[in-house]
Amino acid sequence: MLRRLKKQKIVLKSLQIHATHLCNLSCSSCNAFSQFKIKGSLDADTLSTWLKKWEPRVHLEKICLLGGEPTLNPELIDLIRTVYRFFPKKSTQKVLFTNGFYLKNHSGLEKVLRDCQFELRLTVHSDEPHYLSRILPIIEECKRWEGVSFLVYNGSGKNIDGIEFREEKWTKRYHETEGKVVPFEDKNPRSSWEKCPSKFSMQLHDGRIWKCPMITYLRLLKPEVRQDPAWEPYMKYQGIGPDCTDKELLDFSLREDEEICGMCPSKRIDFSKGNPLPKRPKMSSYEG
Ligand code: SF4
Repeated sequence: MLRRLKKQKIVLKSLQIHATHLCNLSCSSCNAFSQFKIKGSLDADTLSTWLKKWEPRVHLEKICLLGGEPTLNPELIDLIRTVYRFFPKKSTQKVLFTNGFYLKNHSGLEKVLRDCQFELRLTVHSDEPHYLSRILPIIEECKRWEGVSFLVYNGSGKNIDGIEFREEKWTKRYHETEGKVVPFEDKNPRSSWEKCPSKFSMQLHDGRIWKCPMITYLRLLKPEVRQDPAWEPYMKYQGIGPDCTDKELLDFSLREDEEICGMCPSKRIDFSKGNPLPKRPKMSSYEG
């Protein structure tokens, strides 16, 4: 008897989705350029439209909601449920990345994370005493969330006593002076890719899949911020759309270094940023 073979899906290691580009912090060298206050948030219907096109074609080892700061999107819970609806199997790890300050604005988040098998990753971005005094109680609260895997990452670039970190991350990604960004010109794509902390961080943006955060969100910067002509060749990059062939998708999924990696440093440059909290916080419903 003839048996219809199930179409084989193409494996992607990790797909990240910005719940919002907005961020409450200002971290130099953010790989999504969030310190430049890029606007725009995702709604659950749009996410559903995008995932409907991609889910039949890809197996995701990992899918992440992040930003920006994802908890600044009032629809965060709907986004989590939408991701789970398309990727309910445990074979797809599901992760919410946050800086933690606005977790409290989402009533029922703990249960939704548990029900939708989402893991929680909180990044500490500064060792400054005021910052730590605000984030430490949030970390303690998250540790109490039963059935929700929780890890803390160190994004401060410094040693911080008293917090058990799973991972240290934060390196220089581009030059940044007086509110403008300039790419590296090391022109050694292979070496840059090998050292790259974002090499397995594909982005789902505008319904297309992009290689990494920098090449995706570069185009959302105001022209005056990326006015250096060295960015021009990188602005032509378009990722891959759902109209691609299976062969194009497979090639995209397997591609390692490519020309665009020439915009990144060919060596790891550890980097300590200053205090990323706004100096004069505005009073709003999202104020921490
Ligand atoms: S362009 Fe290449 S090296 Fe640079 S961040 Fe993207 S994947 Fe990494």
